Amino acid sequence: MSAIDEVKQKTDIVEVISQYATLKKSGRNLTALCPFHSEKNPSFYVYPEQQSWHCFGACNTGGDVISFIMKKEGMDFGEALRLLADRAGVTLPSYTAADTRKEEKEEYYQINEAAAVYYHNLLLNSPGAEKARQYVEKRGFTQKTIADFQLGFSLDSWEELKKYLQEKGYSEELILTAGLLYQQEDGKTHDRFRGKLMFPIRDIRGHVTGFGARVLDDSLPKYVNSPQTPTFDKSGTVYAIDRASSEIRKQDTAIVMEGYMDVITAHQNGITNVVASMGTAITDTQVNILKKLSKNLVLAMDADAAGEEAMLRTVGYENILNAEMRVIVMPAGKDPDDVIKEDIKAWQDMVSKAVPIVDFTFEKTISSLDLTTARDKSLAVDRLLPIVAAINDPIRQSHYLQKLAGLVNVDINTIKASLSQLKKPAARQRTSAAKPATPVRTARSLVSSSVEEYLMALLLQHPEFKNEIADLSPEYFESSENREIFTAWREVADMDSLKEKLDPALHERIDVIMNRKLPDIRNNVERRLSDGIMRLKERHLKNMAARKAESGNTDGDPARLEEDLKISEQLKELDARKGKKRTGARR
Ligand SMILES: [Zn+2]
Repeated sequence: MSAIDEVKQKTDIVEVISQYATLKKSGRNLTALCPFHSEKNPSFYVYPEQQSWHCFGACNTGGDVISFIMKKEGMDFGEALRLLADRAGVTLPSYTAADTRKEEKEEYYQINEAAAVYYHNLLLNSPGAEKARQYVEKRGFTQKTIADFQLGFSLDSWEELKKYLQEKGYSEELILTAGLLYQQEDGKTHDRFRGKLMFPIRDIRGHVTGFGARVLDDSLPKYVNSPQTPTFDKSGTVYAIDRASSEIRKQDTAIVMEGYMDVITAHQNGITNVVASMGTAITDTQVNILKKLSKNLVLAMDADAAGEEAMLRTVGYENILNAEMRVIVMPAGKDPDDVIKEDIKAWQDMVSKAVPIVDFTFEKTISSLDLTTARDKSLAVDRLLPIVAAINDPIRQSHYLQKLAGLVNVDINTIKASLSQLKKPAARQRTSAAKPATPVRTARSLVSSSVEEYLMALLLQHPEFKNEIADLSPEYFESSENREIFTAWREVADMDSLKEKLDPALHERIDVIMNRKLPDIRNNVERRLSDGIMRLKERHLKNMAARKAESGNTDGDPARLEEDLKISEQLKELDARKGKKRTGARR
């Protein structure tokens, strides 16, 4: 038995979760108010037989005891595993590997820091950086700002950084893994960033985790970032958080902009509770990082960026925050950068007038409609009601129901009826799901299920089919180990980097998977793979359906109804595909 299996065997998920939530019996299972999001009616379930949990509410996710701790304590896999191992009195064979991994990260921080210093000196002193100096001057950055943000310049050459870092004693491999080199198909490497303005990106503790880079001409893309590395993950990165965190705490508000330039201009002008989201849309990881500093998030948004789909996602973030998010809408064609430079009073005014994001969506939606016509009234309801339905907080939800009723000048009860109309198909779904549901009675499994193991072996032993896995979501794996390995495997080029990326406690599991004998399927890998994925997906969906049927109280939560529909649609689609495959096979 591997150390991970031993930890799982000696750990009772009910005991662990009961330290974070008040569990009540519900048939064979237990239920509680979700410890991850705020709610009035319990949508969080624990399944002792399978040693798993699921939240059917805003989180709509689940997993085993390790993934519970990961989510609850904000830990990575290794940290969560170690916490549970300590608790269970299991010594992980490579316990010190945790320290090694920290040291490894430390090494990447150092190499990034060295690169940041190198780029910064070039910007200040190199004759080749003239264009970059002119550019930052044109943007109005002072010498202090350039130093504070350690802006830099990468020479327009292939090997200068590589040579510099190698002279400092860093190996080519390390520089490559840090994302500073680019590897060509023939295996040769060269500097990744060339002829660009460089923005070192730091985590909240000030470590340089990666870089953003901007071209100095009109070529596209305008910006590139470091690739995914042991220290850099774009979707989990908040630019300038190291410089903004204390002011965000103090003012109890974080302003989120889109670009590096906007943030730097804001800070230079004394607005220092400002960070950037590393792209157009903010991610849930970023919301979770900022939430630890303040619940009040204000997004400075491009008017065009605020589509209805984006708004629905934002309501999801509001549910994570348990607070409403506000938005500052930029005048057409202007960035925060422009507004702040032109008239800081105007900017402050805009901030003080930031509107709740749902109100903004209302305004934006109805601005294109003529609410004196019946057709546009129902269009408005069609578009806005799903957004209102997604709001968890019953008081805010009721507020917006009233607002919607007022806007279309229709009795509130009619709007409420439409809301329950939204629920109707799901009610049908619930009864139909109850019928075919194969009761989930799998015995408590210590090792991950055979279909998971088989699929993992297929994947890892046949990396040539890596692009055939679009259909496979990490959620389909119930075991955290497989989920973790799969997620990392998608991002790496080979087995060595896979092990490097993963906690050493998982290395044994990888070896087991790699050595697992697969039947001789040389010509059939692709089909087996798609079959395996389909089986895993089906198992996941059926599990969900059965558990929902078991919990039996999906009423009243529109987010869950939406989910029910999705599940039944996906199951239908799977059935259809299986049918097709069968006929295909007969031919
Ligand atoms: Zn939840």
